[in-house]
Amino acid sequence: MLKSGKNYYEILGVTPDIETAQLKAVYRRLARKFHPDINPDGEKMFKDITEAYEVLCDETKRRQYDTLNGFFKSAKKPENSGETYRKTFRKATESSFQTKSSSKTSKHQDEIKFKNSTKDEKFFTEMINDIIDGFSKTSKKKHTKKEEKPVNGADIYTDVSISLKESISGTHKIVNVMQTCVCPKCRGRKFINDSKCSECEGKGEIITHQKINVTIPAKVKDGAKLRLPGEGKKGINGGKNGDLYLKITILPDSFFSVDGNDLTCEVPISPFEAVLGGDIEIPSLNGGNVLLTLPEKTKSGQVFRISGKGLKKNNLVGDIIVTVRIQIPDEISDEEINLYRKLKNLSGKNLRENLI
Ligand SMILES: [Zn+2]
Repeated sequence: MLKSGKNYYEILGVTPDIETAQLKAVYRRLARKFHPDINPDGEKMFKDITEAYEVLCDETKRRQYDTLNGFFKSAKKPENSGETYRKTFRKATESSFQTKSSSKTSKHQDEIKFKNSTKDEKFFTEMINDIIDGFSKTSKKKHTKKEEKPVNGADIYTDVSISLKESISGTHKIVNVMQTCVCPKCRGRKFINDSKCSECEGKGEIITHQKINVTIPAKVKDGAKLRLPGEGKKGINGGKNGDLYLKITILPDSFFSVDGNDLTCEVPISPFEAVLGGDIEIPSLNGGNVLLTLPEKTKSGQVFRISGKGLKKNNLVGDIIVTVRIQIPDEISDEEINLYRKLKNLSGKNLRENLI
């Protein structure tokens, strides 16, 4: 156990033979690491290293400390330490150690001591101020977020494609947005222990993919823009978040085309449906089917209107407009062929007799 209670050399991580000139560099390095402005957990360590440095950088205090704790005798000095030692003493003008062995009066000795002390203190204060200035400059740089004006986040624009059916009923979509957020490693400070944060490369924020579940309302129009307030880029320094704008594209439907409020489609019918007439089912966008009654002798290309089953927009409801096309199946059985032959023989009407 040391008599002074603390091993200042250990605290500074140096050996007892370190020269005063080197101590300053060591202290600077440690002070930068543990200064409470930079490292909120470093307060105690900063106090300790400052206390250690205050004693060890002062020749008189260091000598007393070394003597008291047995460092002075055991300290292994470099070969040129005597020279360094003398230089230091010449610089410091006098020290209490020297004055003791000199023939100067005690009054004069006190004066010298006072001078020395003032000089050391001044030197020390200047250095600390220098370091603190350095910190405050760095701190200002690092804490610019607090001091800068609030910056609103930018708006984000993105396209969303939906089916015609989804445009009628409304839907939910997951939208991928490139968002920026505060770096989780340095918490926006950009630096960790004086070196650039490796996670954000000193930017203080990182880009992330964010999935946002958005609700597309029913009856949305093609090309419509939806605004989601606050879902854009995050504001900085208390600034507002930007908005997210979704541009809606309604994908072409394989069956229906949109014509105003009307839905148009083409429906195949068989030759016998065309001749005999009857009910056929037409799919609708509301989920169920709607019935279309074909009259006897329906012609290919004939157009039918199913009223009130189209799109509802602006309090108006459109229709489904159906064009029928007689379609011959690809596979026809021998029995059917024979029946068609009978029909051909039965029919006396020539459809092309009045072409010219
Ligand atoms: Zn970072």
